[in-house]
Amino acid sequence: MNIHEFQAKQILASYNVNIQEGIMVESVVDAVKAAQEIKGDAWVLKAQVHAGGRGKAGGIRLVRKLNDIRKVAEEMLGMKLITNQTGGDGKIVSKLYIEKVAQIKKEYYLAVLLDRASEMPVIIASTEGGIEIEKVAANAPEKIIKVEIDPLIGLQNYHIRKLAFGIKLEPDLHKEFSSFLKALYSVYSHRDATLVEINPLVLTSDNNFVALDAKIGLDDNSLFRQKDILRMRDLDEENPAEVEAWEFGLSYVKLDGNVGCMVNGAGLAMSTMDIIKLSGGEPANFLDVGGAANAATVAKGFEIILRDPNVKSIFVNIFGGIVRCDRIANGILEATEKTKVKVPLIVRLNGTNSVEAAAILKTANIDNIITATDLADGATKAVNAAKGVL
Ligand code: ADP
Ligand code: MG
Repeated sequence: MNIHEFQAKQILASYNVNIQEGIMVESVVDAVKAAQEIKGDAWVLKAQVHAGGRGKAGGIRLVRKLNDIRKVAEEMLGMKLITNQTGGDGKIVSKLYIEKVAQIKKEYYLAVLLDRASEMPVIIASTEGGIEIEKVAANAPEKIIKVEIDPLIGLQNYHIRKLAFGIKLEPDLHKEFSSFLKALYSVYSHRDATLVEINPLVLTSDNNFVALDAKIGLDDNSLFRQKDILRMRDLDEENPAEVEAWEFGLSYVKLDGNVGCMVNGAGLAMSTMDIIKLSGGEPANFLDVGGAANAATVAKGFEIILRDPNVKSIFVNIFGGIVRCDRIANGILEATEKTKVKVPLIVRLNGTNSVEAAAILKTANIDNIITATDLADGATKAVNAAKGVL
């Protein structure tokens, strides 16, 4: 799960990380009030969308006169922001964060993230702040300082020293940098984050480190014990079909292909997508209906898959472990009846009671249901059906 910059900053502030004074607003009137309240001689209006790269796309605006706040807020609220991270459709801006301008001496990059390759948290620091870290990594990899943290040992002073020397901090700044980093690491570990990224981390003209931008990514599997963070979820920022699926206990991710997939178990769902590609097709989605799939979840799955107009066939690939295949076969019949599935449905049911399941589907004798003998057979048939050559 992702949260907005202003929410990430609330969390950081509760760990004593320095942030600029700021107020989140959803209307022009409130934007003006917020700027009055913050006082100061300039403000930065920041579009709150779940994507970075806002600065270059017009989503971060510096305003020097209180009288101009209204006009800029009007321009920004409701705008469609297209950044290099939003995809071509962009995101509609419905929230603004009004922040006091910072007097920036230098911008750095600092992040704590879960590195799946080393299976450890990694801290990344760079003198090249405020720009995309991927570009720095590609063009000047020597400017990226990386330190792996054994989670059992945690963040130690020698880690901090390596990072501080790596980004060539003056010795009199080490102490403050150390407190900043310790707070950041606490946020990462206490709040079950997978990413805490501060880009830029700025050194202000009065020599304070301030988190000027903040991005926090959370581990979805930990949200049950991070209830206050779960309440920060902004469903407007997420794909509506994915949200609906989540409400029904299905995990669905929309993709760009035309072969719909309905599978039980994330691992099997991943290999189903792989084999569809291997057979020359493109999956239209990832869908894991969960271990306890039943007629209702299968029906919901069809409904969500078919809302995507690109879908030309659906590959139902279910392994009867906890669920019995005959129940799923009946569920498929009920669900196709209910949701009026018109596209070819390639069904592979394997495992407990698969023989009974095959008999049920055969007896039903429905035109667009095609049974598959195994995974490869199912994938080939689904890809061919999507191409209209069956
Ligand atoms: P994004 O990464 O989405 O472009 P940032 O929050 O990093 O958005 O803002 C982009 C740039 O705008 C920053 O690198 C910084 O130079 C400037 N900026 C952001 N907030 C402020 C602020 N409060 N005061 C001064 N400059 C700011
Ligand atoms: Mg940024």
